[in-house]
Amino acid sequence: MDAEHRRRIANNERTFEQVNYTVGAVGTAGGEGLDADGYGPASYDCECAGTCGAIMRLTPLEYEHARSNLAWFAYGPAHRVSAAEEVVESHASHWIIARSPT
Ligand SMILES: [Zn+2]
Repeated sequence: MDAEHRRRIANNERTFEQVNYTVGAVGTAGGEGLDADGYGPASYDCECAGTCGAIMRLTPLEYEHARSNLAWFAYGPAHRVSAAEEVVESHASHWIIARSPT
């Protein structure tokens, strides 16, 4: 994992923490695209090893789920997957990819 890749994942984790702290400031009850806790989606960087620059819109629950396994990463939808990577789940907003340790 190179420095740019690490930076993007750290950035996503910061976004995730900020969204969790801003209760009430993100989304409004009954709004569109909110998860079970009433949070709206935030912008996350694609976590692929390349520099595609894709931005995904995930709710906190979706991002938390995508990172619930250490081998899983959140990629942009229909992202090119290499032989060392496997699609675990495909959603309209993002895919969850399992990456074999290298
Ligand atoms: Zn990507």
